[in-house]
Amino acid sequence: MPDAPADSGGAPPEGAAPPEGGAPLESAVDSDVLVVGAGPVGVFLAILLAQQGLGVTVLDRRSAPSRSSRAIGIHPPSMDALASVGLADAVLSECVRIRRGQARFRGRVLGDVHLDVASPTFPFVVSLPQHRSQALLDARLAELAPSAMHRGVRVTGLRQTDASVTLTCVGPDGAAGPDGAAGPDGAFEVTGRFAIAADGAHSFLRRAAGIPTSVRRYPDTYVMGDFADDTGEGPVAVVHLESSGVVESFPLPERMRRWVVRTTHLVENPTPVGVAALVRERTGETLSVTSNSMVSAFRVRRQSPARLVEGRVVLVGDAAHEVSPIGGQGMNLGWLDAVALAPVLVAALADEHRADLHRADLRRYERDRQRSVRIAARMSEGNMALGRPVRGLTLACRNVVLRVLLRSPTGRLLARAYAMGWAKRGGRT
Ligand SMILES: Cc1cc2nc3c(=O)[nH]c(=O)nc-3n(C[C@H](O)[C@H](O)[C@H](O)COP(=O)(O)OP(=O)(O)OC[C@H]3O[C@@H](n4cnc5c(N)ncnc54)[C@H](O)[C@@H]3O)c2cc1C
Repeated sequence: MPDAPADSGGAPPEGAAPPEGGAPLESAVDSDVLVVGAGPVGVFLAILLAQQGLGVTVLDRRSAPSRSSRAIGIHPPSMDALASVGLADAVLSECVRIRRGQARFRGRVLGDVHLDVASPTFPFVVSLPQHRSQALLDARLAELAPSAMHRGVRVTGLRQTDASVTLTCVGPDGAAGPDGAAGPDGAFEVTGRFAIAADGAHSFLRRAAGIPTSVRRYPDTYVMGDFADDTGEGPVAVVHLESSGVVESFPLPERMRRWVVRTTHLVENPTPVGVAALVRERTGETLSVTSNSMVSAFRVRRQSPARLVEGRVVLVGDAAHEVSPIGGQGMNLGWLDAVALAPVLVAALADEHRADLHRADLRRYERDRQRSVRIAARMSEGNMALGRPVRGLTLACRNVVLRVLLRSPTGRLLARAYAMGWAKRGGRT
C-alpha cells in the first residue's frame, strides 16, 4: 500500500481532461480503493476509509446526487456508525426522532411498539429524507478527502490481477454509447488495489465480475407520497392494518409525513390525488394534495448475489443485496456492510503479503453480511405479509394475536427487531 495521506483520492493530475461535475482524474490513478457509486453506501465507505488514511477514489455516473425520495428511516446501529464519522449531531439537528410506532385497525389501537427500548445510545428511529443524508455524507467526504469524488464518470469495464483492479471509465454521463460501451476517445482507466461495487441494485461491476444474482419477485405493490402532516399524530409512525391492505405513515422533518399504501397492482402513473384518495378510503385521513412534494409507485423484489467478493472486487449496499423497502432497511444494511468491510480493507492494504489472511477476512465479511441480509429479508417479508388484504376469521385472529403480542414482553423484542437491534450481532459489526 502506498503511504497515503487522508486526502489522496485521485491525486491531482497534470494535463488530464476533467470529467464534468468532478475533480480532474488522471488516466492512471493509483488509489488504494476505487469505490464505484456515490450513493449513501459508497460515500459512507469512502469516509470510513479516508478517516483511516487510505487513498480513495469515488466514481459516479451521475453529475449530481440523486434527489429521488427513497430511504427515510435510519436505525440505531446506523446512528452509531454515523457517530463514528462525526455525523450524528448533523443528522440529529435535522431529523425527526420516532420513539413509538402504533398499529391500528379501523381507527382502533391494536398496540404500540416502543422503539425507545431498542438502543441505549440512540433510543429512537431517525426519519430524514435520503437526499439530506446524502448531502451530509458528501460534505463529510469533501472535508476528509476533497479530491476523492468524481461525478459524471461511468465505469464501463473491469480487469483485475492478483495485485490490482483496473476500471475503464467514460465521462461525462452520456458520453458512452447506448449500449454502455465507451467511445474510443472518451475512455480512460483508473487502477486501485481494491474496487468496491457500490453501484446499486443494477450493479455494472457485479455483472462485470461475473457474480450471478438470483431475483425473487413478490406480489406486493405500493404507492407512496410525502404530504404536509395535518394528522396531529406527532413523531409517531402509524401502521393502519386495514382489510383492503396496509397504509403506513411516517413523520418527516418540516412538518411533512410520508404515506405508503399497498395497492392491488402497480400504479403506472401515480398522482397525489390518487394516493390521497386511497388513504382517505382506508383510514379516513384527509391529505392536503397541494402540499405534496413527491409521489411514486413501486413493486418489490429481492436480489441475492451468489458472492459478495470476487478477487479484488467487493460488493456493498444495494449491489450486495436488494431487499424490500417495506421495513426501511436497505440503506442501513449497506452502511453496516461498510462498517464491517472498512477494517478488512485497512488490514489488507497495511500488509499485502498476508493474502491468505485477507481472503479469509473477506469470506467472513461475505458470510456475516449475507446472514444479516437474510434476517432483514425475513423481517420485510413478515411486514409485507402483515399488510396484505385480509378478511373474515383470518382478520379477526390476526388482530387478536397482534393485540396480545404487542402488549406482552414480546413487544419489546419486536421493537428491537423493527429498530434493527439484531444488526450488530447478526453482522458482527
Ligand atoms: C421507496 C423506497 C423507500 C426506501 N426506504 C428506505 C428506508 O427507509 N430505509 C432504508 O434503509 N432503505 C430504504 N430504501 C432503500 C435505499 O434507498 C437503498 O438501499 C439505498 O439507496 C442503497 O444505496 P447504495 O448506495 O447501495 O445504492 P444507490 O443509492 O442506488 O447508489 C448507487 C450509485 O451508483 C451509481 N452508478 C451505477 N452504475 C454506475 C456505473 N456503471 N458507474 C458509475 N456509477 C454508477 C449511481 O449513479 C448511484 O449514484 C428505500 C428504497 C425505496 C425504493
